[in-house]
Amino acid sequence: MPRIAVVTGGTRGIGAAISEELHRAGYIVAPTYHGNDAVAKAFTAKTGAPHFKFDVGDFAACKDGLALIEAELGPVDILVNNAGITRDSFLHKMTPEQWGDVIHTNLNSVFNMSRLVIEGMRARGFGRIVSISSINGQAGQARQTNYSAAKAAIIGFTKALALESASKGITVNAIAPGYIDTDMVRAVPQEVLDKIIAKIPTRRLGKPEEIAHMVKFLISDEAAFANGATFTLNGGQYMA
Ligand code: NDP
Repeated sequence: MPRIAVVTGGTRGIGAAISEELHRAGYIVAPTYHGNDAVAKAFTAKTGAPHFKFDVGDFAACKDGLALIEAELGPVDILVNNAGITRDSFLHKMTPEQWGDVIHTNLNSVFNMSRLVIEGMRARGFGRIVSISSINGQAGQARQTNYSAAKAAIIGFTKALALESASKGITVNAIAPGYIDTDMVRAVPQEVLDKIIAKIPTRRLGKPEEIAHMVKFLISDEAAFANGATFTLNGGQYMA
């Protein structure tokens, strides 16, 4: 039986590359998204994989969304916590909304989704959870106290849940990408981006597919000994 993988934010950017990679590898993939219906429809038309719309920061919405996924596809074996946003500002100008939106989407989502799948994984004796952190959670980034805090918290969450879950056949890992060529990074002004690229030893942005390959490895049976780790994929920009 093919394993079932939920990829949050799985219709666009890094998440779409992960969904496509896993779909091609024979997994049954359930990509989720929040607002961009046109992109989600285009993704399904291109890949044949379905899409599921709900807010990953809202526990009740996640519960309903996962119930629908499990009713349509079956129990979730693999969870990729990928959905994320930025709301950049210096702390001395940051609003509670900017802080709250990022914690809601980038961190509460990881609790919501992991909490809702972990009991089934424990009962069945198998599970893989991979969460997408960030170089900015490792190194810090000005104008991103909200984002850096959420992404650093994912690393601690990953270690704690890995300790709790290892005896049940579940591994929990994180990936900390550097700057990857997606809408999120294309929103950065070009002159700022040029300065960032100049600091990357490989002198280029990463590709979404490069993150997807690591996810495919981490959810495989061969990766059963990788647990509680954060895998840094950033072209050598920050050597954690
Ligand atoms: P994109 O902005 O390209 O895509 C974000 C995805 O998340 C979209 O599918 C979006 O759905 C979904 N999403 C946003 N908010 C919610 C929500 N509340 N509920 C459900 N889904 C939501 O992002 P990237 O592909 O660039 O980033 C993916 C992940 O990788 C993020 O966690 C990001 O922080 C992290 N990351 C990215 C880096 C980069 O350089 N790009 C570097 C390091 C980490 P919709 O299409 O409906 O808006």
